[in-house]
Amino acid sequence: MHELSIVMSIVDTVEKEREKQQADTVESIELDIGMISGVEMEAFYFAWEAGVRKTKLEKTRLKINRPPAKAKCTECGQTFVATSSFDACPECENPFCDILSGKELRIKRMTVIKN
Ligand SMILES: [Zn+2]
Repeated sequence: MHELSIVMSIVDTVEKEREKQQADTVESIELDIGMISGVEMEAFYFAWEAGVRKTKLEKTRLKINRPPAKAKCTECGQTFVATSSFDACPECENPFCDILSGKELRIKRMTVIKN
């Protein structure tokens, strides 16, 4: 499952960072998962529950931001809210638009508790 491998890579990154900071507990993690990042949220939450079970992140609070998808037309410069990576410009119907945001998949911040 795609989402489980994403979760495992987040867990891995956070665990390394926790060790680096010599912290005992990760209190919370904040993620940016863009609206068109391709992540299925229901599957993500399910994978998260499974992925953190019996790890140090089991009790970690998870906050997820969903940055909206924004695109900019390469022809007329119109910016608009996109529903996929392949939306055409609503003004001139140019199919080539730059995605400005919405594909994010990153750890925005994490807070740890040191003993
Ligand atoms: Zn346009």
